[in-house]
Amino acid sequence: MSDQAQPPSDQIAFEPGAVLHAHIADQPTRLFELSPVLLSKYEVENGTVTIAGCSIDDEPIFEVARFAGGAGSSEPVVQFFDQTGWQLDADTVESLGLESPANLQQLPPGIRPSHFQNCLQQGSQRISAQTSPDRIELRRVIWCKRATGKISIRIGERTAQVAFLGWTRRLINGADPLAPFVCPLSGKASYHIVADDDGRLTVPEAVTACDVSGRRVVETVLENSALSGKRALPQYMASCCVGGERILQSELVTCKVCEQAISPQAALANGCRGCQDIPKADAETVQHWTEVFPGLAKWKSIKIRETHSRVFISATKGWHRMLIVADKSNQQILCAKQALRFFGTWRKLDIDEAHKLF
Ligand SMILES: [Zn+2]
Repeated sequence: MSDQAQPPSDQIAFEPGAVLHAHIADQPTRLFELSPVLLSKYEVENGTVTIAGCSIDDEPIFEVARFAGGAGSSEPVVQFFDQTGWQLDADTVESLGLESPANLQQLPPGIRPSHFQNCLQQGSQRISAQTSPDRIELRRVIWCKRATGKISIRIGERTAQVAFLGWTRRLINGADPLAPFVCPLSGKASYHIVADDDGRLTVPEAVTACDVSGRRVVETVLENSALSGKRALPQYMASCCVGGERILQSELVTCKVCEQAISPQAALANGCRGCQDIPKADAETVQHWTEVFPGLAKWKSIKIRETHSRVFISATKGWHRMLIVADKSNQQILCAKQALRFFGTWRKLDIDEAHKLF
């Protein structure tokens, strides 16, 4: 049978009883060795950064001889794999000190033989899958310390956590980079963490001042004025009741005819785009609003415009014409006016009077 025909598990010579163990002599093994380096990465303005939890465990790295030509080849290549079967690159091999480990007489303290057997079995299968069809011989198992934990950031009452994972030797020399804090609202990442004026944890690049109040908050909390582009907190914004666009409350103007708060872009010389040139309504729409305002049944030439928040209704009766504006959500009349047809002067109706009429 040729080498290519053999299943992967036959291509690796892992004999548990003959395994040589080693470790890295100068790797950090305790949290107090790691924590100053980990914590110094984060700058927390007016707050604290601490280790919220950390475990440091031995993990095996398999040093193997790989015979690229199969069983008959004589010059193997030495390679290193972690227990997931991932081959370590040259930078990782050097930074972990894998080419000059210190040999051990036995398994490291705390590693149960049954655990090692599992690691060896799974490692051999995964490495075989990576290296097939080459033949592999296990030279040594090098035990390296790997840390996993969380860094806790606190400013005031708000806290956030950043997870970390890496070989202790690479964490301490910066080769395994720590993850930055990611502002959950803006998505911007940094090792510099601040609180905005409302106490939200974020990064300096995500903080912007409200153009109205000057309050400095995470930029995504602010809204943009569709008119001026200015940015402000929601309480300083309003919607044009004709077009619906959000603009600063201070940018609203009042239509001199229907008296609604509108964007200057909706204003016309003789009213606004809500109350002027109202289109003729279809029968279904007229019926709906006549049920809401039964007095409409006495009027002719009914024209209706609905926007996101308002209904503008105009109609005629004899020599008279009328205009009513109502809130679509609660159907309350907000403005009612009457005028003589063909004359421009409107007479404002009392709202209670308008509800009685319509
Ligand atoms: Zn108007």
